[in-house]
Amino acid sequence: MSKGNNLKLTLKDDQHRHFRDDDFWRIIPAWKDVTREEFSDHMWQMKHSIKKVEQVKTVLAELCKDQFYQDMLEGQKITPMNIRITPYIFALMDWNDPVNCPMRKQFLPIGSQFLPDHPYYEADSLHEDVDSPVPTITHRYHDKVLFLPTTICPVYCSYCTRSRLIGGSTETVEKETYGVNQARMDVAFDYIRAHPAIEDVVISGGDAFMMTAKQITFIGENLLNIPHIRRLRFATKGIAIYPQKILSDHEWFNALNGVHKKAREMGKSVVIHTHFSSPKEITIFSKLAMDRLFAEGIIVRNQAVLQEGVNDNINDMVLLIKQISYMNIQPYYVYMHDMVPGCEHFRTTIAEGEALEKAVRGTTAGFNTPTFVCDAPGGGGKRHVASYEYYDRENGISVWTAPNVKPGEVFFYFDPIRKLSAEAQARWSVKETREAMIAEAKKKAGF
Ligand SMILES: *Cc1c(COP(=O)(O)O)cnc(C)c1O
Ligand code: SF4
Repeated sequence: MSKGNNLKLTLKDDQHRHFRDDDFWRIIPAWKDVTREEFSDHMWQMKHSIKKVEQVKTVLAELCKDQFYQDMLEGQKITPMNIRITPYIFALMDWNDPVNCPMRKQFLPIGSQFLPDHPYYEADSLHEDVDSPVPTITHRYHDKVLFLPTTICPVYCSYCTRSRLIGGSTETVEKETYGVNQARMDVAFDYIRAHPAIEDVVISGGDAFMMTAKQITFIGENLLNIPHIRRLRFATKGIAIYPQKILSDHEWFNALNGVHKKAREMGKSVVIHTHFSSPKEITIFSKLAMDRLFAEGIIVRNQAVLQEGVNDNINDMVLLIKQISYMNIQPYYVYMHDMVPGCEHFRTTIAEGEALEKAVRGTTAGFNTPTFVCDAPGGGGKRHVASYEYYDRENGISVWTAPNVKPGEVFFYFDPIRKLSAEAQARWSVKETREAMIAEAKKKAGF
């Protein structure tokens, strides 16, 4: 991110009140005759989802340049994520310039984008498996757990932090893909029941949009019936990438709403955590889906991931925040990108994260201002982006602690090496020098 330029706010006052409402999908040759009614149907969206590179070529016809096609084939040899893209999201990509399109970047990997992984990347960078007492549960924080009942999603994100688990196997990663499974859930519920400190369950994965109506009801009611459980969050990227489900899958919507209403009667809460990262993901369909959820009183919060070339500039970030706020979604977090495989091209520096948070703060209501966080590699948990113990900007090394999560432990986040000075890059290229730099940073932090 070139400083200055990317931090100059030039949005028009009412830009965030405009929701794209044209028949944008008709630009795709295969869908040029698809009506708004068909496009609004969740079944149509699922049926026409793109799952293979060859399909991209078929639906795009002459819009698919040969060089781009080759680039996608190369991408398949490297990516840890499967392709799965709803027509809705596919049609929002810029097919005149797919290589630079922020939507393409997020969901459709190409070979030319990939960079070597950072020397300290890990498939499970956040140590979710280390902090997992029983399968599908990560219990890192005292009063809340992460519950992963499924590993499938309606769209697969190239930046997924759980690429080790999510979706099917790829040429580079073997995965044990699973859907909602009774035996696994019983073990998870038993664990939660046996730990009265837990009040809060994040039901993630994977994506709640891939659970059936019955599964939503079953999971929701079982958890709500545990006396010490007060708060449930269903995590789904669906509102951003597949809003048609909220609008036309009435059985599913009623199941979710039923769990929400039951929770209200019990004095508990059931909310949705969703996942818009770019204002280009927002259209009139998102607005209509949110209108339906809001009318029922269902609270929706947003977690975005900071990604280079997607949202690492003030205009896109503020437009995203204001536009989701306008739809009654609360911007909750913006995450620094985790140090996971196949994602080096997405990562930004802690300094860039801090600069963006500083520029964003004050542009809208405080309660609609997201917290910029770094989820400390090694399981320190989410920390405010400016709360490091020490930051060696020159060498891109930040040192973190988590006093009430992992007392006494020290964690490190490393800026992407390509963003450092030539001298610092040279230091990183030698194992001994980089280990010495890290030891020095730790010492400077007082440990
Ligand atoms: C993110 C996360 C949670 C929820 O954290 P909040 O800060 O409350 O959103 C819970 N458990 C794990 C393991 C997490 O990574
Ligand atoms: S929706 Fe979430 S879990 Fe699914 S691929 Fe995207 S980031 Fe990963």
